[in-house]
Amino acid sequence: MALIVQKYGGTSVGTVERIQAVAQRIQRTVNAGHQVVVVVSAMGKTTDTLLGLANDITPNPSRRELDMLLSTGEQVTIALLSMALQALGQEAISLTGAQVGIVTESDHSRARILEIKTDRLRRHLNEGKVIVVAGFQGITRSTDLEITTLGRGGSDTSAVALAASLQASQCEIYTDVPGILTTDPRLVPTARLMPEITSDEMLELASLGAKVLHPRAVEIARNYGIPLVVLSSWTDEPGTRVVSPLPQARSLHNLEITKAVDAVEFDTDQAKVALLRVPDRPGIAAKLFGEIARQNVDVDLIIQSIHEGNTNDIAFTVVQGLLTPAEAVADAIAPVLRDHHPSDAAEVLVQRDIAKISIVGAGMIGRPGIAATMFKTLADAGVNIDMISTSEVKVSCVIGAQDCDRAIAALCDSFEISTSTLQQSLTHPASVADLPPVRGVALDRSQAQLAIRHIPDHPGMAAHIFSLLAAESISVDMIIQSQRCRIINNTPTRDIACTVAAADVERARAVLMPMVSTWDAGEVAIDTDVAKVSIVGAGMQGHPGIAAKMFAALAAQQFNIKMIATSEIKISCVVAAAEGVAALNAIHEVFELSSDTRIEVPA
Ligand code: ADP
Ligand code: ASP
Ligand code: MG
Repeated sequence: MALIVQKYGGTSVGTVERIQAVAQRIQRTVNAGHQVVVVVSAMGKTTDTLLGLANDITPNPSRRELDMLLSTGEQVTIALLSMALQALGQEAISLTGAQVGIVTESDHSRARILEIKTDRLRRHLNEGKVIVVAGFQGITRSTDLEITTLGRGGSDTSAVALAASLQASQCEIYTDVPGILTTDPRLVPTARLMPEITSDEMLELASLGAKVLHPRAVEIARNYGIPLVVLSSWTDEPGTRVVSPLPQARSLHNLEITKAVDAVEFDTDQAKVALLRVPDRPGIAAKLFGEIARQNVDVDLIIQSIHEGNTNDIAFTVVQGLLTPAEAVADAIAPVLRDHHPSDAAEVLVQRDIAKISIVGAGMIGRPGIAATMFKTLADAGVNIDMISTSEVKVSCVIGAQDCDRAIAALCDSFEISTSTLQQSLTHPASVADLPPVRGVALDRSQAQLAIRHIPDHPGMAAHIFSLLAAESISVDMIIQSQRCRIINNTPTRDIACTVAAADVERARAVLMPMVSTWDAGEVAIDTDVAKVSIVGAGMQGHPGIAAKMFAALAAQQFNIKMIATSEIKISCVVAAAEGVAALNAIHEVFELSSDTRIEVPA
């Protein structure tokens, strides 16, 4: 007999008939000899409808009252599903988050789970009952017992947290598609089902727009080593397994409040090539990285910053042994990249003595202050940051090699990292050699680009900017610092661009303006006409040419790339909003991810 947690999403319980079908599926699991705890979402689009009602009353409803309202959606489903189970002769009991004792922080509308009480659950399981728990909600520890919600899509997180707390043998996420696909089948109908994906890859995909799983659910599964499966509630197909390495034992206390940073990594075998003032038109990145791939040079970080006038800067890093061929390609291509005027010639800049230093940890998801703390720590240690590259679970900075030891010491101190978790990052870990270079692709249409221009270039500025945003709970992604220094009134200045949720972009500008307006020519520019397309695959390390192929697919459609940012396992490009879906399709096609059969998706 095993204990299994099953979660059914909104569409899966969208009608009475669907609820009855789900009840039958649950009963089959019980009849196979298992104990079952079920987590459900609100029926169909209930949560959106409730949000609409709130907005009809006021454009700024309080987050406490929103939680009170939205938590009712799941309460309807638990009662109906429990009744449906009882009608089949299966003993069942429905429980709200509060009744279970899903204890959360008091941060309304995005509360994280602190602890789940298991006494009552164990009692009912021992009585032979199926327990139906309301997803997405919890209760605070304070005497006021406030109702909280976990954030949109949070029922996945409830389910995996329950599985961890009960030490269940498996957590099954039932949804309206056959499992995790190479991309969203609503945008690319030829998306293919993957039998398996690593939790690292899924974490990236989820945070880059694949809403099939809530990133926080993936994080808990990874931290506690919970076997996680995503599958269709319509069929009996096996779905997709999310595989995690065996984790270290960890306490269930403060379940979602993990240490933000698990490790500090450094790599001194790095060199940088930057091309300044390359023309801002489709095909440039494809040409450059296509040529580099032809020389079999594997690039590590790639960043392309916001453009100024009609030119961009592109910079990349390689291991030092590959600097000579990389530089040769850049030198050869620079004159070709000029537009019509000789003054447009791109300039190649090479830097040998650099180091890459990174902080790593799933605990930084949704905590915008962590990157800011890293920048501040480096600034306080007098370390200037040359390049920044971020992913959901990692922030990497390129710094001068001479600063590396000082930076490591300061970061270990600041994030309470013992030297045992300090590691020399392996450029191509052997464990990824067999993984596919591109596992899936994702589109995020909810972001906007924020460019902060003419920032005085001295240590501490990035820290200052991102601390201000973090204090307002504004999460940023794709932070890119320009390569070029511009002298304004004798002060060297640089630009920093990043992406933020479109809903936060005006607030971000308002937060930054008081500081920016004190600089000469300081400016905050917003571009909401953006979409972010990304490829994810742990096997892309050690496969030269993956980036070039992605850029070429975009160039073939004449799509201009506004920004590029990479981590070890992902490459993201920002393009115009209207090009997003076509860009996603083109990239999915070029990496041969399509299947011959079309996925049927319920409306
Ligand atoms: P649920 O209500 O079951 O939680 P969601 O709507 O939250 O379902 O998530 C399932 C949806 O996620 C699918 O219908 C699909 O449109 C979308 N999706 C986005 N990316 C992917 C992907 N890579 N694989 C599968 N589904 C995806
Ligand atoms: N009902 C909530 C939502 O729509 C939670 C969930 O379905 O996961 O976001
Ligand atoms: Mg969902």
